[in-house]
Formats: sequence, C-alpha cells, structure tokens
Amino acid sequence: MDSSTILIAGAGIGGLAAALSCQKIGRKVRIFERAPELGEIGAGIMLTPNAVRCLEYLGLGDTLQVAAIEPTDSIYRRYNTAEVMMRAGVKDTMRDKYGAAYYLIHRADLHSLLLRAVLANDPNAISPGFRVVDLIQSGASVDIYFENEGSASGDLLIGCDGIHSDVRSSLFGPSEPQYTGQSAWRGMVPADDLPDTVIEPGMTSWIGEDKHIIQYPVRQGKLINYVAIVVLEEWAEEGWNRPAPIDEVVTSFSDWHHDVKKLLASTPADNCYKWGLFVRDPLKTWTVGRATLLGDAAHPTLPFAAQGSAMAIEDAIVLGRALAENENVESALKVYEGTRLSRTAWLVEHARQATKLYQRVHGDKSKERAASVDEIYSYDAVQCPLGVS
Ligand SMILES: Cc1cc2nc3c(=O)[nH]c(=O)nc-3n(C[C@H](O)[C@H](O)[C@H](O)COP(=O)(O)OP(=O)(O)OC[C@H]3O[C@@H](n4cnc5c(N)ncnc54)[C@H](O)[C@@H]3O)c2cc1C
Repeated sequence: MDSSTILIAGAGIGGLAAALSCQKIGRKVRIFERAPELGEIGAGIMLTPNAVRCLEYLGLGDTLQVAAIEPTDSIYRRYNTAEVMMRAGVKDTMRDKYGAAYYLIHRADLHSLLLRAVLANDPNAISPGFRVVDLIQSGASVDIYFENEGSASGDLLIGCDGIHSDVRSSLFGPSEPQYTGQSAWRGMVPADDLPDTVIEPGMTSWIGEDKHIIQYPVRQGKLINYVAIVVLEEWAEEGWNRPAPIDEVVTSFSDWHHDVKKLLASTPADNCYKWGLFVRDPLKTWTVGRATLLGDAAHPTLPFAAQGSAMAIEDAIVLGRALAENENVESALKVYEGTRLSRTAWLVEHARQATKLYQRVHGDKSKERAASVDEIYSYDAVQCPLGVS
C-alpha cells in the first residue's frame, strides 16, 4: 500500500464522509470495515442545515435532494391531547436563515449515496470484513492490524469505528459506558397502514412527562420512522439492534393520544427495536501522533439533539481542510482536534440537557427550542476558522 494512503477504520456515515473529504483534497484513502457487507440499519435520520451544508460541499447536494424529504415544519404536541405546544416552519425557512436545507432521510439511503461517491472516486477504496484491532506508530507511518490476520500501513489513521471504538481503546485504553436511565424503541411503519390523521408532512415530537416520541416520514413519505424514549431504571446492554415485541412499546404509551397508539401498534413485527442509551465521559484529546478519532468514536452522544451524524460529518470536513492546509500530519491532526473539541463537547452536553425540552409538559417550548437552534444550525464546518485550542 502506498505510504501516503490515509487509513480509515469503519465505513459508517462518519468513515465515508471522512473518506470523501480526504478524496476531495486529492488524497488516497483505504477504509477497513469490520462488517462483511456494507450497509446501514433501517432507521431514519434528521439532517440539520449544519450537516447538509457539509454534504453539499462534498458534492452530494443533488443526490441528497432526490433521496431526502424536506419537512414542512416541526411540531411539538402534548402527549395525550395532541394540542400543538410549538410549531416552527422548516421547508420555507431553513435555506433562507441558514443557507442550507433541513432533510429527513432513510439511513440506508444516506449511507448508499456516500458509499457510491467514495467508490466513484476509487473503486478499491473500501475493504469489508476487516476489523482493526491494534496499531503501531513508527516514524512517518502507522501500521494497523486486523482481527483475523494481516496488516496495512499508511500516513495516518482515522478511527471512525463508532461508540465501541477499538481504535479509541488502542489509543486511550478501554472506557466503561454509563447507562443514562433512558431507553428507546425505534420502528418504521408503512404509511399505507396508517390513517391520514397519523401522517404529518413534517416532524412531530410528542411531549410527555419522562417520555417522548419523535416521528417523521422518509422515502417519499412511504415510511413513517419513530423513536420512542422513556425513563427506565435499569438496562444491561449497549447497542441499538435488539428486536423487541411491539406489545412492550404499546403498553408503555397506553395512556397517550390515539394517533400515537395507532402508530406504535402498526409497527411491523420484525421492525421494532429497543435499546438503552449510554454515555461515556468526554475525552480531552482524540489524537496520538498520526492517529485520531472521528464521529461516535470520538464523542458519542445521546440522540436528543439529532446531532450524532451531523457532528461526524462536520468532523470530516474540518479534518479534510486541516490536512489540506498542513503538510505535517501531526500538526494537521492537532488543528483538526483543536477546531472541533469545543463544538462537539458543547453539543454532547446540549443533547444531555435536551431531556428537559422533550420530556417536560410544562414550559414555553418555542423559547426553549429557540435557545439552541441558531448555534447548532449556523455552524459552518466549510468556512469556520481552523485553529489549535
Ligand atoms: C435513535 C437514534 C437516532 C439518531 N438520530 C440521529 C439524527 O436524526 N441525526 C443525526 O445526526 N444523528 C442521529 N443519531 C446519531 C448517529 O446515528 C450516530 O452518531 C452516527 O451513526 C455515528 O456515525 P459513525 O460513523 O461515527 O459511527 P457508526 O455509525 O457506529 O459507524 C461505525 C462503523 O465502524 C465499523 N466498525 C466498528 N468497529 C470497527 C473496527 N474495529 N474496525 C473496522 N470497522 C469497525 C462498524 O461496523 C460501523 O460500520 C441517532 C442515533 C440514535 C441512536
């Protein structure tokens, strides 16, 4: 392998965005993905303008517009009466205000458009079935080692291997996740199985006490995606692919509005999943020499602010820019990390605090929401000043 190659562990949304950003500045990348097949789980993702701005910069604006939906508005409803507690325009306001759209998209569709773009630049860029388990740095290169056998060498390593990152453990030692006291169900319901009252053209957040649900359409409105989050004392495992019986989520929301109950009860039997929400203490640094972290590997977050993928995509842009402006790899990685640490730490903390917005039925929701939206959506990873903090 060419010694100037950039090695990436993980072909999730973060790894693919990082690859594209490095290809954009003319660098050769090689992604090693643990899974034997490439893909994403069946769930929706909300792409806020700060993320869309980055994807447009990577040349994905047109494909994104075709694959995604622009929601009309964002509505907060009271859990039992459906009374509107907050309504904010999305489709007609986001581009004007923040210079980029707000999109709803199926995760598999976002993953596939990133994947196609990376492979169009280099058909050999990705190797599935390779789990990176260790690394050794020497002089001007980094060697990575795979679980089965074999190794690869390159100029630098970007660990984009998610919340259970092996690269993070190699660099900083293992870390214990802490359960947050919140658990979640997710499901996708065919819109044809639902009455019109349940289907709204925008994003609907149902606000309850210690519980909330977010629902929105994906795939031209053919599927309604939901995430239902509840306070639950105990949970054992991390990870969000454990199938769950639909009765559990239906029972948990049995005193909610009939539209909510209809949505949950209509979940196809093989499409309901439950998982516990875990956090880790934030790292003070992500970088050692020629190796760094990106996305959930660097700053795992709660899903309340819909910023996990957005942060990974922002990281990818800043990393590409830092590499373009600094010939010395170690300096470039310091600039990348220095530019991103405070933004991501703030967003992780903001997501922790967002339970108050979604899981309290009292308070002025318009005011609470407005307090953070500008800071999140107006961040410009494409043009922000780069620097070491
Ligand atoms: C319910 C829920 C809703 C969410 N909604 C949103 C949303 O609306 N908007 C938003 O921006 N974010 C959202 N997020 C967050 C978002 O899903 C994550 O932050 C994002 O997927 C992180 O991407 P990543 O590439 O860093 O990690 P991952 O998506 O976890 O990808 C890591 C990849 O690395 C691979 N891998 C793991 N270990 C190794 C190894 N050792 N070697 C090689 N490969 C490896 C994995 O197989 C995987 O492909 C949500 C999260 C949840 C739980």
